[in-house]
Amino acid sequence: MSLKTDSLWDPIEKMPLDEIFAKDQILLNEQLIYSLSRSRFYQTKYQKAGIRSDEILSGEIPLDRLPFTEKSEILDDQRDNPPYGNNLCVPMEEVSRIHRTSGYSGNPYLILLTQKDIDVTLEAGARMFWCAGVRPDDVVVHCLNYNFWIGGITDHLSLERTGAAVIPFGVGNTRALIDLFLKLKPSGISCTPSYLSKIEKVLLEDFHLKPGDLHIKKGIFGGEPGIQSARFRNSIEEKWGMKAIDANFGVSDILSAFGSECEFRTGLHFHGQNIIFPELIDPSTETVIEIKKGAVGEMVYTSLLKEAQPLIRFRSHDLTEILDVSRCACGRTGFKFRILGRSDEMIVIKGINVFPSAFGEVISRYPDLLSGEYQIILMGKSPYDHIHLLVEHGKDVSAEKMQNILVDDIKTRLSIHAVVELVPFGRIGRSDGKTKRIVFNDKPTE
Ligand SMILES: [Zn+2]
Repeated sequence: MSLKTDSLWDPIEKMPLDEIFAKDQILLNEQLIYSLSRSRFYQTKYQKAGIRSDEILSGEIPLDRLPFTEKSEILDDQRDNPPYGNNLCVPMEEVSRIHRTSGYSGNPYLILLTQKDIDVTLEAGARMFWCAGVRPDDVVVHCLNYNFWIGGITDHLSLERTGAAVIPFGVGNTRALIDLFLKLKPSGISCTPSYLSKIEKVLLEDFHLKPGDLHIKKGIFGGEPGIQSARFRNSIEEKWGMKAIDANFGVSDILSAFGSECEFRTGLHFHGQNIIFPELIDPSTETVIEIKKGAVGEMVYTSLLKEAQPLIRFRSHDLTEILDVSRCACGRTGFKFRILGRSDEMIVIKGINVFPSAFGEVISRYPDLLSGEYQIILMGKSPYDHIHLLVEHGKDVSAEKMQNILVDDIKTRLSIHAVVELVPFGRIGRSDGKTKRIVFNDKPTE
């Protein structure tokens, strides 16, 4: 079990990167040999890729010789070899838990964990929440879905592992949640950022109270993007009087949670040291890029300790920017990153690669005049000639003059000519707190 100091959960978090890398390589070889000996899925995959067993057993095969694993392959494997697929490497008596993650329609991916898999997952989770500022004297209400999904119980137990007291609330019944806050005065809430607006509405309508009346000190957010926008974060902190922390990034297929900010808030620290091995690739050429400051690419992860379902070179399709690899002021050496979007959402406009979030960043520069909501409308086929952007006026303001300013700003910052159309506040649909950013026709979704 890890030793924790006041500022770090585990001493590994301040270890020099070359020491972590050296241990990673040992674990990586062991995991590859494990997958070769136990996984019929990988045995077949290696064979198809022309990889000989002795190359893996020698411990000298370069990682980039091995094929990537796509989510679609493991979904197909479970569909064709029901219910758990050919990548299950342990007998069922060693399996302790079964989760489901999103797959394709009617075909979810089942994640199985042994006791050791659970323990390793909770260690990464504890590093993450400790880094985000959760401490033993906190009482945290956990409001993520416990029903089948990995984030509910796993984050709950990770929060508990930091020493904090955790109240398992789940989702729904916002009135009861508010009652609980009024009676027990917990110091923290763990939820998706969009859930706050629902709580605020019920607070106002049913209790005649304001968000600040709940006296929540720490907002521990994850499960969806948004909180990295300074504008959104500032508005939450102002309204709720809490510290809003981006504290819960993970890729459930490979490791439930391994990214959170520290007190300096300069990006998400990577907390998967010696648990998962990260690689950065150029998604179009599939070649490996060095993880260094300013590098942008897709993260690919290999599990290092998995017993039930090891994954080798799993493509996350998360487009990621590496913000820093030097030691942070908090002492941690885990590189810092931010998620730009999905690699499959990258848009090519006249030869320029851009992510939807880049437009969001330009729009968020004008918080007094614009709501921050936008929608990109693409016509025809990629690569696109031009982009049509719907941008919402702010509430009770007219921002007509913004049209030309935005066209110029987008041209200057992104080198893209956009046709900007301003639409009334509330026009762009927000389903479940999320807005569909790209529409592939000529009408916005409502
Ligand atoms: Zn830090």
